[in-house]
Amino acid sequence: MGSILAERGNQIYRTGKDTRAIECSKPSLAGSVSQRACVFCGSRVVLYPISDALHLIHGPIGCAAYTWDIRGSLSSGPELHRLSFSTDIHEKEVVFGGEKKLYAALTELIDKYKPEAAFVYSTCIVGVIGDDVEAVCRKVSVEKKMPVIPVQAPGFNGSKKDGYKIACEALASLVGTADREIPKISINILGDFNIAGELWILLDYYRKIGIHVNATITGDGRVNDIRNAHKASLNVVQCSGSMMHLAKFMYEEYGIPFMKVSYFGIEDMSDALYEVANFFKSDELMERAKKIVRDEFERLMPVLKNYKEKLEGKKAVIYVGGSFKAISLIKALRLIGVRTVVVGSQTGTADEYEMIRELCDDETIIVDDSNPVELSQFVKETGADIFIGGVKERPIAYKLGLGFCDHNHERKEALAGYEGMINFAKEIYATAMSPVWQFTKQKQIRM
Ligand code: SF4
Repeated sequence: MGSILAERGNQIYRTGKDTRAIECSKPSLAGSVSQRACVFCGSRVVLYPISDALHLIHGPIGCAAYTWDIRGSLSSGPELHRLSFSTDIHEKEVVFGGEKKLYAALTELIDKYKPEAAFVYSTCIVGVIGDDVEAVCRKVSVEKKMPVIPVQAPGFNGSKKDGYKIACEALASLVGTADREIPKISINILGDFNIAGELWILLDYYRKIGIHVNATITGDGRVNDIRNAHKASLNVVQCSGSMMHLAKFMYEEYGIPFMKVSYFGIEDMSDALYEVANFFKSDELMERAKKIVRDEFERLMPVLKNYKEKLEGKKAVIYVGGSFKAISLIKALRLIGVRTVVVGSQTGTADEYEMIRELCDDETIIVDDSNPVELSQFVKETGADIFIGGVKERPIAYKLGLGFCDHNHERKEALAGYEGMINFAKEIYATAMSPVWQFTKQKQIRM
């Protein structure tokens, strides 16, 4: 426990040993070098995939560069989201204010790109100098007759999770501003970001079942669909950490019920289809959902069995953004013979950690809001073979000489749905069994 700060002790839990609850949902400890991102980044990752909107970052160029093309979110149409515009705040604006520069950038970009809406993100320095971003957005919105939405997300104002909430509030301001008729059996998909085209896999399942997807928020998202999102009968929420706030808002404001699902792993993917079909109380829809599940099981099981024989006994570390995804990952790894020995997240909730605790074997380490030093120690302590995480965890894994699977928003491989389960197994196999690790470990020993 030498690398663990004493104040962080209760955010680490060892199954079969500890009896207390794990502490979570609290600000990061000063000096801990948390893996969490800033508030601005949290808002940016949620809104980024809206592909026909203008995204303008009011701040220094570094904030824009940090979040430029931040997700592997694909679009079936416009690709305006992939550009990262910045007002490039300098000393002059810090002293005299940046509102004029923001107005000039906003009007020029709207004239040039003709977006359906504009999101204007406030960053740390804007929070410090006190520019009235809302007033500028209001003015431009009237002049250009389009939604111009301030996203008040100075990075220092909390953590990434607070940014999710701010992004949901920005989305909520759009919902209900259009009125297009849609089929009765319709859903909105919340919290899938169409990374590597994952959303399109899901759309195909829902199409086969006979369920209309009204708005996808925000993967492959379009402003006008989001404006019309209040017409759907149900909100199906994945990545609940980022989207629950919007789902709750739509329930309170428009009476749209919501359900939490996960599309990762065959068990949770199948449950998602069953639960959505069940919501509409139609035998026909349920029969079609069952057929998809049956067909996919028959296709997947022999392939997964093959990977399981080769991977049996391997140990994995999971460290992801939200802990709901970790639950699916633990089950998916089990299916291919891999035991989870460390599992943690940046923003997990007490309920989700409790579900993880019930799911895990004894001697599993569960950790909330960890840091590189702790994670490195856990890898060494457990003798893990594979690390599943995001861009900030990749160097930890490679430096320690173990396989890595990117399960965060930068990845280029679809890991959701049944097809995603095969890709996941293939990737875990390729990285865990790579011959390169024998040389890394030998080198470490010689040193
Ligand atoms: S912490 Fe502040 S300065 Fe850094 S990226 Fe976030 S908003 Fe920009």
